Amino acid sequence: MSTYLFDPLPQPALPVVGESRLYPVSRIFCVGRNYADHAREMGHEVDREAPFYFTKAASALVLSGETVAYAPGTRDLHHEMELVVAIGRPGFRIPREAATSHVYGYACGLDMTRRDLQGIAKQKGRPWDLGKAFEQSAIMGPLTTAADAGPLADKRIALNVNGEMRQQAVLADMVWSTEEIIADLSLYYHLAPGDLIFTGTPAGVGAVQVGDMLTGTIDGLAPVEVTIGEGE
Ligand code: MN
Repeated sequence: MSTYLFDPLPQPALPVVGESRLYPVSRIFCVGRNYADHAREMGHEVDREAPFYFTKAASALVLSGETVAYAPGTRDLHHEMELVVAIGRPGFRIPREAATSHVYGYACGLDMTRRDLQGIAKQKGRPWDLGKAFEQSAIMGPLTTAADAGPLADKRIALNVNGEMRQQAVLADMVWSTEEIIADLSLYYHLAPGDLIFTGTPAGVGAVQVGDMLTGTIDGLAPVEVTIGEGE
């Protein structure tokens, strides 16, 4: 029998409200520019042609309540508060009308971003990985099952930093609905339980500083809370 050369990483997983078992995470997809006012603040107009994506490693996942180190290599670490969709049923080329039946649940998530490095990547036509896919860059609250969450469209999404409101919108402001995103993403990937989708951030993104306390909320879901610690 083969053994490993070293211990494999622990399986990243999310707690679920009202459920003792954990949701094991395999892939993290993220949608870019999904709120018109955020696209505008970043100097773009929203493209209704098709959504676009980037990814983060599952090992970038951090659970709410932790302190995360200020990320290395940046002087402009930004918060992006987002609705996260957790897939619960396998699907490929999922019709939009069937998309909701593939959702296990929803959560509050922070797509942490090294904005300066993302800016350089955009300018030079390079991949976004240095700006987006780094250690501790996917911070999430517990999942709430779709049944418990109920319809989300009219729900409020907000981010508070040290008690001050920084981001605020309603989920209906999303350019691409969760159903449209699932349908589109499933044209390119065989979606499966364990897949998470960060659905994009509203306007008001901004820099965090060491010592900041972030609280992200979406009506009806468990919040995401994190403190920014000293860089290591
Ligand atoms: Mn984002």
